Amino acid sequence: MVTSGILVCNMNYENPKIAEVAALLKERFNELQQKSDILKAPELKALYADIPLLDPSERSSFGQQINQLKNELTEMAKAANEASEVVESIDVTAPFDINTRLDQLPKLFSTELGGRHPLMTELDEILDIFYRMGFEAVESRQIDNEYYMFDSLNFPKDHPARDEYDTFITEDGYIAPAHTSVMQNRVLKSGKDQLEQGKPIAVVVPGRTFRNEDLDARHEHTFYQLEGVYVGKGVTVGNLIATLKEFMKAYYKRDVEIKTQPFYFPFTEPSFEFAISCPFCDKVGCSVCGEGWIELLGCGMIHPNVLKEAGIDPNVYTGFAWGVGFMRMAMIKYGIEDIRHFESAKLDFLRQFK
Ligand SMILES: [Zn+2]
Repeated sequence: MVTSGILVCNMNYENPKIAEVAALLKERFNELQQKSDILKAPELKALYADIPLLDPSERSSFGQQINQLKNELTEMAKAANEASEVVESIDVTAPFDINTRLDQLPKLFSTELGGRHPLMTELDEILDIFYRMGFEAVESRQIDNEYYMFDSLNFPKDHPARDEYDTFITEDGYIAPAHTSVMQNRVLKSGKDQLEQGKPIAVVVPGRTFRNEDLDARHEHTFYQLEGVYVGKGVTVGNLIATLKEFMKAYYKRDVEIKTQPFYFPFTEPSFEFAISCPFCDKVGCSVCGEGWIELLGCGMIHPNVLKEAGIDPNVYTGFAWGVGFMRMAMIKYGIEDIRHFESAKLDFLRQFK
């Protein structure tokens, strides 16, 4: 962008001749490419040449007014120069030479500033809540192997539970993680030392996950999860429920009731499905929740075999873990009806979150 360089004349000149030249030069100034050229104007020089012709009593005031005009023009040139330096930026993607004269540039399409993807904004907010609760964040991976996806998480070999995940597998046998739990073994191993020094492991793991799903309004092949892992001495189901309840309250910015019911995951024992009371209708039932409750995540106490696999003694330490799809959390928060919007690159959808 370039400013027009139009500046308003503020000074008044008593002498009518100087006033006339001032008005003329200021008009010309706006059209000049090189603004400092205004100081070389012949009309300005001509004014100086007038001084000796004047009555001596008028000379001093006349001379002062010319200097005043010259100073004003100098200031204008300086200001215009600075303004053009500040606002002129280079678009490296522009299909023309950056040295092209500004008035010869091709006309560009109109543009507007973009915004962050709503999921990343939500993730920042979610992580902020967990930072305040003393958790650290570790990023998950987008390619992994069978050991971290299944073996390290107490999935028996050839167990049907492995098939339920509908994982994408490369020809070389690598796996696109179907849950952020692929990081559990790594997080536990790397936190083992601090655990022995009396400091609990408290880590959340945001990541992109993949499943070979049939796509519909609630299922995507690519989605986002947040894993949580907490291990220490004397950690109980009570700690698990209190942690998640505090998080839900902070995220939805209101008190929520929670409900758990038994479930099965190979890597937690006991395992639960975790539901919250609908933050919109107080359990009366609405279009978001159906009948007042929203099932949000799976969680449980980390299975002793998973701790053992990471070199942690399950007789000394216990812990809990959960995995939550934070796309779903955001959908509930904003009343988004179709999960596929997030990865659709639909501008109409994305602009609502700017
Ligand atoms: Zn509701």
